[in-house]
Amino acid sequence: MQFAEIQEGDSRYIMHAYGRFPAALVKGKNATAWDTKGKKYIDFTSGIGVNCLGYSDPQWAAAVAAQAAQIQHLSNLYYSPVTVKAAKALCEAAGMQRVFFGNSGAEANECAIKIARKYSADKYGEGRSQVVTLQNSFHGRTVTTLAATGQRVFHEKFLPLTEGFAYAEPKMESVRGAVNAHTCAVLIELIQGEGGVHPMEKQFVQDLAAFCAQKDLLLLIDEVQTGIGRTGSFFCYQQYGITPDVVSAAKALGGGLPIGACLVGSKCAQVFAPGDHGSTFGGNPVVCAGALEVLSRVAQPAFLEDVRKKGAYLRSELEKLPNVESVRGLGMMLGAKPAAGEPGKIAAACVDAGLLVLTAKDVLRFLPPLTISKAEMDEGLAILRQVLQGFAG
Ligand SMILES: *Cc1c(COP(=O)(O)O)cnc(C)c1O
Repeated sequence: MQFAEIQEGDSRYIMHAYGRFPAALVKGKNATAWDTKGKKYIDFTSGIGVNCLGYSDPQWAAAVAAQAAQIQHLSNLYYSPVTVKAAKALCEAAGMQRVFFGNSGAEANECAIKIARKYSADKYGEGRSQVVTLQNSFHGRTVTTLAATGQRVFHEKFLPLTEGFAYAEPKMESVRGAVNAHTCAVLIELIQGEGGVHPMEKQFVQDLAAFCAQKDLLLLIDEVQTGIGRTGSFFCYQQYGITPDVVSAAKALGGGLPIGACLVGSKCAQVFAPGDHGSTFGGNPVVCAGALEVLSRVAQPAFLEDVRKKGAYLRSELEKLPNVESVRGLGMMLGAKPAAGEPGKIAAACVDAGLLVLTAKDVLRFLPPLTISKAEMDEGLAILRQVLQGFAG
């Protein structure tokens, strides 16, 4: 298929929910992709933080293909060995007790919210169902996770949303003000990704954890973007020195296959009973085979050490680039604020020049595959330098 035909078919048959860059990617290897015209791109996005092992990692592809050829789906009415292996590896890496598998980040957060409400209803009865989230957060696109998302722009066209959400600033004073007798949980990201790559202050997070423990409010951490090695620890909360009650993960967990996971510690390990929650595809063997390969590599200390090293290198190189005002983030989740030029226009110019980058609010956002090579990073940085220079005032 020629590019023009692809673009026409996309426009004709796919709902116009996305703005796309003019490239159809058909092949990839680690952090390098090629389009229909054979043009090469260095990838600083990993498909919005998904392809943690890069494009089509051979071991990952072999594990997925082998499972597809063995048995691809069996419903949650039966036991699945590969699903158990993935669950065990994930719980051990997280220091959590149990997991529920779904298919996306939004679903993982829906599960977290249901757990919080049921925990509270079981223990305190009705009327304690409100969840406090943060302003500028992002938790998904379903009607309930939109309600959890503290950004009015996402709400406007879809009212009424699910009731029972209140929004606070990332300050204890503001959280205390939003919490009342009806509150059952607080849900936060440790680095607001879609909100512009804003890391939370360590003191705030630790104070929040102590406050939640004292009030028996569940602390729900959305690690959909920050999880699975992205920030240099397996989960970001491991760097913040806290233990959440519930953790959601998705994006990178399947290495490119759709999976979401909601993990719980001891407080919530018994909340769900048969019939309380479910998902047709949840824990699918093919997807779990991909996740197991991801977990067996990313959860290793040496792999995480490498992420921290590469993240530090990328950060220091970004700071040296022309037209970069500041860099923020952790590990390989970084945002660079340009001194001049709109992030969207700079990103489009990057794609044109052979570099895939993301944006979030006022920053260019970088989520490269965790396996990106030094040569690929340098090649991408050279393209970025050229493009940024062109936008300098
Ligand atoms: C991407 C993202 C989501 C939503 O994940 P989907 O898989 O698109 O539903 C939720 N929370 C955070 C922090 C995210 O980055």
